[in-house]
Amino acid sequence: MLYTQPKLFTLEDKTLAPYALRSSQSRGRKFSEVEDLYRTPFQRDRDRIIHSKAFRRLSGKTQVFVSSYGDHYRSRLTHSLEVAQVARDIAVALGLNQDLCETIALAHDLGHTPFGHAGEEAMSEMMARFNDYFEHNEQSRRIVEKLEIKSPDYPGLNLTLETIEGMMKHRKFHDDGKTPVIHSLEAQVVDLADAIAYHHHDLDDGLRSGILKYELISDQIELWRMGEEDLSLPQLGEALYRHMVINRIISLLIHDVIEESSRQLVQGDVLEPLEYPNNTLIRFSERQSARVEELADFLGEHFYLHQKVSSMAARGQKVIKSLFELYSQKDELLPAEIRVQFEAEKRHVVIKDYIAGMTDEFALKIFEEYRDML
Ligand code: MG
Repeated sequence: MLYTQPKLFTLEDKTLAPYALRSSQSRGRKFSEVEDLYRTPFQRDRDRIIHSKAFRRLSGKTQVFVSSYGDHYRSRLTHSLEVAQVARDIAVALGLNQDLCETIALAHDLGHTPFGHAGEEAMSEMMARFNDYFEHNEQSRRIVEKLEIKSPDYPGLNLTLETIEGMMKHRKFHDDGKTPVIHSLEAQVVDLADAIAYHHHDLDDGLRSGILKYELISDQIELWRMGEEDLSLPQLGEALYRHMVINRIISLLIHDVIEESSRQLVQGDVLEPLEYPNNTLIRFSERQSARVEELADFLGEHFYLHQKVSSMAARGQKVIKSLFELYSQKDELLPAEIRVQFEAEKRHVVIKDYIAGMTDEFALKIFEEYRDML
């Protein structure tokens, strides 16, 4: 028996929860295309993302540590894969569309600059000089709608509207001007999966690097103590102990999201997919949410602001600003295929797109190459 697209649609109808967004309900793509024989529209989106250049470049981009720091630290690529894993687990348990979750998760960080959030800040500062700004979710959208060229028939990857809207999570707000509108329950799952993934791997990377200390975490962080229960550090050894405690924490958080969200969906009597949910229905329980906040504050203070991390960040910012200035003054240094874009686009936007797309390593290489001119 062949599992063709219509058959996959029927299977989704039978197996997904009533509030899941079915692939057959997709509002489609900006440029219409012939449907794929064996894939749903969201599966096809996922494959287009995986085969994009921007996705491959994530392997060379900083999550917290610059990519050359060590072999076992997370890059933005491994982060995106971990987000996809967590999102799929939550989606399956809630009967949501796991393909859409996976697709949004793999695409959610495409627009990040080199050198992580520090790089984004430096880029925003440079853009402000032109009365413009930089925001990574918007840059992700620009990549999939414009910068990747895969077909003579359309710019970008021509993804479904549901995937694109899911990637734009923080850019639209409810009437209060503060609460972000997160399209679809599937996109809400990815948003929480993102938080679970980075709390989990930043704890791991922070401890592995020696920047975070076990005693301090155990003393200050309730989630850590919950994960530690009945495990012995001397018995297991440092690496295994770290792995097991963090593993327990991530399971605890995933289970909490699944159970609390299910309660919300039942209480709210949600019986159909919500394209613009009024509420964030995919969420931690109140008790767990407070614990996650405690952990987030701790990581902020003891990890992201640690001198070792912030000096890496400062160097990254210097590289981005210097390259931006250099290209603004001497655009002949840009590759020819970048310069032709000046015909259709403002110069500072072309320079921004070029630098934002770089990996850490590539940006550092160019920076060293032009050192005498900077
Ligand atoms: Mg992320």
